[in-house]
Amino acid sequence: MSAAAAAIRENLTRLRDRIAEACIRANRAPASVSLVAVSKFNPAEAVEAALAAGQTVFGENRVQEASAKFPPLRPSHPALELRIIGALQTNKARDAVRLADAIETLDRPRLAAALADAMRKEERRPALLVQVNTGDEPQKAGVPRAEADPFLRLCRDEHGLAIDGLMCIPPAEEDPRPHFGLLAELAARHALPTLSMGMSADFEAAIACGATHVRLGTAIFGARPAPGPG
Ligand SMILES: *Cc1c(COP(=O)(O)O)cnc(C)c1O
Repeated sequence: MSAAAAAIRENLTRLRDRIAEACIRANRAPASVSLVAVSKFNPAEAVEAALAAGQTVFGENRVQEASAKFPPLRPSHPALELRIIGALQTNKARDAVRLADAIETLDRPRLAAALADAMRKEERRPALLVQVNTGDEPQKAGVPRAEADPFLRLCRDEHGLAIDGLMCIPPAEEDPRPHFGLLAELAARHALPTLSMGMSADFEAAIACGATHVRLGTAIFGARPAPGPG
């Protein structure tokens, strides 16, 4: 095993322990939280090392990068689950539906329409999460807080989309807990089972607030290589 692969294995072992401990502190079953390994910008070898260490759930930001990395791994890893966690362009909706098991970044009416259309054409139904811009940050993707309720209703009533849950990325410089709490409240109000929140720096707080999916990149794979073009 290469040194890089050994480091990924060790990191995963340590993170699984920390997730289990955070669950116990929150009176939750450790199996109630999925670790999503965010492999963006990392090479296929890093994904293979994680797979060899028993990791099956992965997150990628870009459809194109994920299309190159994941389909070749599927035949030998039937349990593999790919989640799209980056901003999704409407013209990539069909590729995303073909490729992904979950799309966590549904955040506007045109994308809802495009995904509904793509799901009909592809006869494939990835799980859908609505991304909420809990900090109402102008530069950030996600539905503004005040529009979350009507947007969830639009997805359901107008486009017939079953929404599985919510996702957020809290503002970088703030205590993330109020943002996690807000997302959990919104999910409870709409009876949505899935809460994708928490990254390498704050996943334990997210678990305390009810996260069902924590998205960890650098804590598993180390500092990311620079993104490629596009
Ligand atoms: C990159 C990324 C992550 C992982 O971030 P780390 O800090 O490396 O754990 C999680 N979620 C989203 C949406 C990301 O883009």
